[in-house]
Amino acid sequence: MKKGNLTIDPWGASSIDNYDKVFKEFGLKEFPENWKKKLNHYLFRRNIIIAHRDFDKIIERINANKPFIQITGIASSGRMHLGHKIDIDLFLFLKKFKAKNYFAIADIDGYVSRQKINTMDEAKKIAVDNLAHALALGLKTKDVYVQSKQKPFYYNLAFECSKKITENMYSAIYGHTDFGKISAVLLQIVDIIHPQLIEGKMPSVTGIGLEQDPHARITRDIAKRLPYTLEVPSFLYFLHQSGLQQGKKMSSSEPLTAIFLDDSSEEVKKKISTAFTGGKDTLEEQKRLGGRPDICKVYEIYKFHHPSNKFVEDIFKRCSSGKLLCGECKGLCIKFLTNFLEKHQERVKKTRKIAEKMVN
Ligand code: SF4
Repeated sequence: MKKGNLTIDPWGASSIDNYDKVFKEFGLKEFPENWKKKLNHYLFRRNIIIAHRDFDKIIERINANKPFIQITGIASSGRMHLGHKIDIDLFLFLKKFKAKNYFAIADIDGYVSRQKINTMDEAKKIAVDNLAHALALGLKTKDVYVQSKQKPFYYNLAFECSKKITENMYSAIYGHTDFGKISAVLLQIVDIIHPQLIEGKMPSVTGIGLEQDPHARITRDIAKRLPYTLEVPSFLYFLHQSGLQQGKKMSSSEPLTAIFLDDSSEEVKKKISTAFTGGKDTLEEQKRLGGRPDICKVYEIYKFHHPSNKFVEDIFKRCSSGKLLCGECKGLCIKFLTNFLEKHQERVKKTRKIAEKMVN
């Protein structure tokens, strides 16, 4: 996406380092403090959800105990990692209100938009694996649909949306005219809009990373111009967990940047031991001056995934004051992740069969 001198690539692996500039250029609104307090979940309290478009509509629905749609999903592009878990954590949280839940297993999207996925069969294998993990994280089968198994009206809607997009408009937003990615964009628009054709006109919300904003903008624009009575979809924007090395986001295409949900305890140990930290050059210096949790990848894992606010705050304070050293802190992180992944992987053994049935 291009605007002024700023380019955002929804499929890229680099992290965005200037959020203020992105907010200003694209007109996103910061997530207000009173909503954070009201929702009282660590994704909000720890500033992982940072911005929104029209989330006011959803807050109104929550306050009035009325239904709203939540729609998100995962493209079948590779192994699932901790970064993907945020989408599911947010989805499970919003389910607690009166949400109508739609979670897309985007197998067609994964195939058409990624060069590295050579066949639809390959995308479906990834879809099975992703769905097995998503179910093990707590998603229910009734909340899930698989793109390639949708009814005809879903695909018809994609063709209908295509008539609303001119070549100039598309190029201005995305900066390319790659047919596979164009198809993926159409499906994403339909993913977000089609629940209103099932449930009736209703506010809807989708949680996305900031670099996915091009999809939000085009979807909102088309929702206004389709010949149906629709609410313009709302969006929440979360920070991406960055990769374990400096300057990268967790990415399936760069295995050393990510903790995968099927990583062994040895892999976790190796990746955390070599992760970039905010530690000082010497132990003496760190004890005297304290560490930098704000730039530390180990602290980021706690911030994005540890359920206890007290634990996370404590790590921050002890690190900053020099009372906690990186060796001990990494040991705690390895233990935390290993425990979580062992239990999770046990659950995946059971959910894989269900996933196979749903995708194939
Ligand atoms: Fe990071 Fe922990 Fe070291 Fe602080 S003590 S810099 S949080 S690894």
